[in-house]
Amino acid sequence: MRIFVYPGSFDPVTNGHLDIIERAAKICDKLIVAVLINRNKSPVFTVEERVSFLKEVLDGKPNIEIATFSGLLVDFMKKKGANTIIKGLRAVSDFEYEFQMALLNKNLDENIETLFMMTGINYSYLSSSAVRELASHRGNIRDLVPDIIIERIYKKYEENRG
Ligand code: ADP
Repeated sequence: MRIFVYPGSFDPVTNGHLDIIERAAKICDKLIVAVLINRNKSPVFTVEERVSFLKEVLDGKPNIEIATFSGLLVDFMKKKGANTIIKGLRAVSDFEYEFQMALLNKNLDENIETLFMMTGINYSYLSSSAVRELASHRGNIRDLVPDIIIERIYKKYEENRG
């Protein structure tokens, strides 16, 4: 069985992530969307919120599983019986970091392959941090994230404002 893992912070999930998820799910038997429990970066959305956004958005997709992980990705993958990491590439700026990560993971476990998928044409400029920046100023995030999570994203910033 071909099991792919798509790791990330998903803080929050964007339409760019979803595009990669949908395309990757077509070329494997099972896609595990693995939400990183960040220890040094502090995310705006809690891991529970990030997972619940993904669940809502990916509801009913048969070969997609949502999981969380901390520690080494290769250890998580071993537990799940997966040996392929899927990554999205937006611009040259993503390349250096992803290149380093792919080589480090290969060094940790030679059975692990990293596959890169080019961003969808409409999403090359899109990142979770851009969504956070816009949402924090009540900017328009429609078309950047799935409609069903828009209100929850704004609400989080309202709460943070107190
Ligand atoms: P971000 O960089 O937006 O904070 P993550 O850390 O959650 O996102 O990224 C997880 C993965 O998704 C990475 O491989 C990243 O390159 C990819 N990715 C993020 N946004 C896009 C996009 N708009 N198009 C393609 N891939 C993307």
